Amino acid sequence: MATKTDTLIIGGGVIGVCVAYFLAEAGRSVTLLEQNDIASGSSYGNAGLIAVAHAVPLPGPGVLTQGLRWLLDSASPFYIKPRLDPDLIRWLWRFRGACTQDHVLRTIPVLLDLGQASMDLYDELHARHPLDDAFQHRGRLFLFRTQSALDHAAEELDLLRRFGVEGEILDGAEVRDRFPLASPRVMGGVYYPNYAHFAPARFVQGMARLVAERSVDIRTHTEVLGFQTQGAEVTQVRTTRGDFQAQEVILAAGAWSAPLGRALGLRLPIQPAKGYSITARRPDGFPEQPVQLSEEMVAVTPMGEHLRFSSTLELAGFDRRINQRRVDASRRALRTYVQGTEGLEELEIWRGFRPLSADDLPLIGRTRRYGNLVLATGHGMLGMTQGPITGKLVAQIVAGDEPDLDLTPFSPGRFL
Ligand SMILES: Cc1cc2nc3c(=O)[nH]c(=O)nc-3n(C[C@H](O)[C@H](O)[C@H](O)COP(=O)(O)OP(=O)(O)OC[C@H]3O[C@@H](n4cnc5c(N)ncnc54)[C@H](O)[C@@H]3O)c2cc1C
Repeated sequence: MATKTDTLIIGGGVIGVCVAYFLAEAGRSVTLLEQNDIASGSSYGNAGLIAVAHAVPLPGPGVLTQGLRWLLDSASPFYIKPRLDPDLIRWLWRFRGACTQDHVLRTIPVLLDLGQASMDLYDELHARHPLDDAFQHRGRLFLFRTQSALDHAAEELDLLRRFGVEGEILDGAEVRDRFPLASPRVMGGVYYPNYAHFAPARFVQGMARLVAERSVDIRTHTEVLGFQTQGAEVTQVRTTRGDFQAQEVILAAGAWSAPLGRALGLRLPIQPAKGYSITARRPDGFPEQPVQLSEEMVAVTPMGEHLRFSSTLELAGFDRRINQRRVDASRRALRTYVQGTEGLEELEIWRGFRPLSADDLPLIGRTRRYGNLVLATGHGMLGMTQGPITGKLVAQIVAGDEPDLDLTPFSPGRFL
């Protein structure tokens, strides 16, 4: 006999728990299925930045050329494993189609609105239930050791300023005023105030505890195996721990949304984009300032008693192997840009799969094919940033309410 529930969420990452929170607030009865533990996917070891000002999408003019150059370098921050995978080829084709200035200009305001709405919700959430004491608003400081990269960043800041983003270009001395640990090789910086940071897994696990107290039924170690459908309805969800029937099904399974979508006959253009992080004990005196080692594309985030540095984007399918050369490259980068980071006590090396959509915008909304399925996935490099607003938008879609933001740019219909 199938377990009956009003709303069923698949996935216990930041998106799944935020959807659960806002559905429970709206008075729905909710069951959440997670194949492992809460926050065991990409929401575990990421850089923990609520990155409102990170609003230039990944596809843009010149990105493919740069990507091809990096392909030849096994320690580069971006890598595509060459293979004849039809899903990857289709994804690359769509990605290529989004590599235009027009896409960049249309996407920046959309990402800014999404990010700001989420930041406001984080502030509200934090004021109501402080789930993570690492949560801080300290902006983000991009460190540079070459003039050419700093010039490029200045151009990006000029572009973002046209959309109201604040930022400041700093010379070497000004960088050291803000961040005294910057090494002598750092010759300049860009400071963006509109970033916050936190310990992501602590937040997601805290949200899961909170929604469980509000009677959300959380089933961990319950893997979705497949679906039964009838006409335009998902009628049953099969799992390793029995079947479920729900009026509404929310697919929030991160990078695994693509294989699950396939089981529903939906081809979601989402690739698992592997990234690494190293978590170390935070050295004494490391300031409460997230920094970016710009040329090497390594994000460094203080998280309470920990310091995390994260990097790379590899399109290599669900290959869980850790490429030691890339991990070593980010260790080297840290020592190059930041003094006092030799001999760090490393606690954990992690890899995770970002759910990267082909145009770098999430898929939030109903599909044409099924009347009772809502997608909440494809958040790529910004899922932590966009978690709360995604949860709120999904609750509004399910209730049939006017959404806080125009959903057109996130419509799954642009791909399906
Ligand atoms: C190195 C790195 C750094 C990053 N830094 C940032 C950052 O600073 N800021 C930011 O905003 N974003 C960042 N991101 C991106 C962010 O981590 C993701 O966008 C976000 O975590 C995606 O959340 P999610 O809930 O969609 O997916 P996930 O957190 O991956 O959750 C999906 C869940 O679904 C579960 N699941 C999958 N299949 C099934 C199934 N069949 N049955 C049941 N459950 C299933 C998985 O086990 C998983 O727990 C970073 C990512 C990486 C890799």
